[in-house]
Amino acid sequence: MKNVYFFGDGKAEGDGGQKDLLGGKGANLAEMTNLGLPVPPGFTLTTDVCTYFMDKHKLPSNLNDEINASMKKIEGIMGKNFGDTKNPLLVSVRSGARESMPGMMETVLNVGLTERTVAGLASSSLNSRFAYDSYRRLIMMYADVVMEKSGDAQVENNVGVRHKLENFMDEYKNNRGCSKDTDLSAEDLRALCGEFKNIIKKTLDMEFPDDPNVQLESAIRAVFNSWNGARAQSYRKIENISDRAGTAVNIQSMVFGNMGTGSATGVAFTRNPSTGENVFYGEWLENAQGEDVVAGIRTPNPLNRESRSPQSKNLQSLEEQYPSLYKELFTIKNNLELHYRDMQDIEFTIENKRLWMLQTRNGKRNGSSAIKIAFDLQDSNVISEKEVLNRISSQHLNEIMLPTIDGDEEKKEPVITRGLPAGPGGASGQIVFTADDAQRWHSEGKSVILVRQETSPEDVHGMYAANGILTSRGGMTSHAALVARGWGKCCIVGCSDLVIDPLGKTLRINDSIYREGDWLSLNGSLGHVYGNRLSLITNNMRGDPLFEKIMNLADKHMKLGVRANADTQKDAENARQLGAKGIGLCRTEHMFFSPDRILSMRKMILASNLEDRQSALDELLPYQQKDFYGILRAMAPYPVTIRLLDPPLHEFLPQTEEQIEELANELNVGIEKINQIVEDLHETNPMLGHRGCRLGITYPEITRMQARAIFSASAQLLEEGIKPFPEIMIPLIGTAEEFINQRDVVVSVYKEMDVDVEHKIGTMIEIPRACLVAEQIAEHADFFSFGTNDLTQTTFGYSRDDVGGFLYDYLNQSILPCDPFESIDVNGVGRLVEMAVRAGRDKNPELKIGVCGEHGGDPKSIRFFNSAGLDYVSCSPYRVPIARLSSAHCNK
Ligand code: ADP
Ligand code: MG
Ligand code: MG
Repeated sequence: MKNVYFFGDGKAEGDGGQKDLLGGKGANLAEMTNLGLPVPPGFTLTTDVCTYFMDKHKLPSNLNDEINASMKKIEGIMGKNFGDTKNPLLVSVRSGARESMPGMMETVLNVGLTERTVAGLASSSLNSRFAYDSYRRLIMMYADVVMEKSGDAQVENNVGVRHKLENFMDEYKNNRGCSKDTDLSAEDLRALCGEFKNIIKKTLDMEFPDDPNVQLESAIRAVFNSWNGARAQSYRKIENISDRAGTAVNIQSMVFGNMGTGSATGVAFTRNPSTGENVFYGEWLENAQGEDVVAGIRTPNPLNRESRSPQSKNLQSLEEQYPSLYKELFTIKNNLELHYRDMQDIEFTIENKRLWMLQTRNGKRNGSSAIKIAFDLQDSNVISEKEVLNRISSQHLNEIMLPTIDGDEEKKEPVITRGLPAGPGGASGQIVFTADDAQRWHSEGKSVILVRQETSPEDVHGMYAANGILTSRGGMTSHAALVARGWGKCCIVGCSDLVIDPLGKTLRINDSIYREGDWLSLNGSLGHVYGNRLSLITNNMRGDPLFEKIMNLADKHMKLGVRANADTQKDAENARQLGAKGIGLCRTEHMFFSPDRILSMRKMILASNLEDRQSALDELLPYQQKDFYGILRAMAPYPVTIRLLDPPLHEFLPQTEEQIEELANELNVGIEKINQIVEDLHETNPMLGHRGCRLGITYPEITRMQARAIFSASAQLLEEGIKPFPEIMIPLIGTAEEFINQRDVVVSVYKEMDVDVEHKIGTMIEIPRACLVAEQIAEHADFFSFGTNDLTQTTFGYSRDDVGGFLYDYLNQSILPCDPFESIDVNGVGRLVEMAVRAGRDKNPELKIGVCGEHGGDPKSIRFFNSAGLDYVSCSPYRVPIARLSSAHCNK
């Protein structure tokens, strides 16, 4: 097995297509090398090595030889030797998984520096400040990544060795009157290195290894181990990335941005990731090494005029300071974008005015920029129409429909401070200062804003739980910004007015103090912070030209039809505007709850004979007719699936003694009589009780009234020249006989009425038995609609209302891969669906089949429903755009 892939000097053994083997970073380093870009030479240990290492707890036996041979090649290209005391080669050991996991995995820079080689580096570079700066960075990173985390040391109160070293360095700087790292002299840094080693010894009870080969091998193992680090695991869980995939490791010759003036490091996006605008956008820092920009230690300089923020407006841009290097970088970014045919997120370093490329990948972006970028690329003939669709994920769409702060309230509220708009949308919540608190408060049902100086990968669980994230440091490419953007979460970074006391749990903004639990509101699209609780409103992008454009494109390519679940005319109109082509579920019971109708409904329930019941139903008929008229009209000519009465009757009866007394007065009957009925209707398990078609079988007059209302509303519309299309759905069928019974009632009403209304009569499939006898039901039904909420309840035997008691344990212990009420259980419930579709269509090839559970709005489930052969999905109106896009995604 070939474990090692070399890249350097214009040629690479791997290429960009080998992400699975080389990881994203390694594959792209190879690709950039092959493109002739200036990439420091190096080599990639494959993800297979990682899998081997995880399974066998050792590295492959021939790996060492392959590594040595590759190191020789780097040495040849660079003209330096690893471990040499005169002119030492240093390398970075970089993680790189298949899918980008920003900041989750580890990297160690400057590997190969020891007491002996650091002196060589100082004299060969004629720059001992640089040499000791590199050394202190190595010691810090190595202690953290290799000695502490990889050893799985339990860190007390989150204060790991790295924090200790950073704190020590901060104090040291203070004592010297230095405000920035770059103010420290060579002597300072040299002294720091010595102190660092002492602190490490005290904290970890281990010596920092002053041997280049030990450093290299241990760093490699540590990076492999970081795959199984707690935060990488939790990130994978959130992002649904497989634990088996493993990471590659890249060993690459160091290039130095910390050599003083004329050296720098930076990160950039080929387009603005917040707006999607086609402008080069990035940040850089002179005399610094890679992680400084991302960590937000200093406010980075803007790359060019377009990248300026209020914080960096007075700082020199790369374009101004080093115009020819900027131009070189600009050409490279154009080439990369054309080559990858997508917006790129790049890392570069300048060593003594020489530009080096260290990374490129498809850049994360927010929802609205994703749409803009995709259409812009299509306009420049870089990608096709279908590719445009595939560039927009359902998450992107979800995000642009995120809530924002109510504009009217926002206008009246003073902005207490501003930061960089790193993640869009609005958030309002109570402030907390640690990720753990954010998670805990969130689990208690609170809305929280996580306030941090800067975030690190240790904070991801809290960032996930938070409604918004606010940091005092960091730029648009900081960790907080990247993660928030990836999740479409409201986030403001680099808010330099914040004075945060994480231990005292207070936040000072100018003269105001905010304590844990106080409310703040964020406008992540503008970077505005408000000192109050403001209302959020849910947007839909209706009317936005780019949104409409992407939706129209989705409709053009969609596979499954998309309908909405709507019970009222207003919902129906709303759904139609959001692009629903029909209603997949109109629940009639909601209509009975309004005050003017509930009385007639209760009369009907309390009726002791058919005559009384019929007269109560006669009162209800005009109401129902009016409702159906409105809904059918709003959707015409698209179909409206109307479900006949479903819930158990007791739900319509009053609960409290007071209400019962009131009803008794209104109906002029004794309280005992009502109490008697309430008692009679009591069921031990109403979910499995007298409901659905069972009601219609006991009281066919209810079914008759509803059928009459539907047909007369339709007839009225026809007279007005509007063509309605009702589909009458009989709920909770378990046997063909149930269906036939109710269908016959509907058919007899239709015949009596002597109208000519196009309609269908079908059933909801929501009981496992219905799937088992689907063939028999299909013989008599025009359509099936899977009610996957109840089908999931009845298949698993979980009550949806009670699943909360154990679901968390089930997910945590991987007993269930996900909440089956959110995403369809393909292996169980899905099997029943497939069976029923096959059997149903065998018997009745004309059978129309849809789904109306909440799964109809879940992208993963939609993919499954498409493969199962359904005709449409139906979901709540606000999910309709996502369902339309997901349906188009099925057409790959
Ligand atoms: P991450 O995946 O967290 O971005 P990287 O492996 O990209 O980790 O490295 C972290 C930082 O170190 C980046 O800014 C990167 O550009 C920088 N870096 C990595 N390798 C080198 C190298 N050989 N020379 C100079 N800087 C490097
Ligand atoms: Mg990187
Ligand atoms: Mg049901």
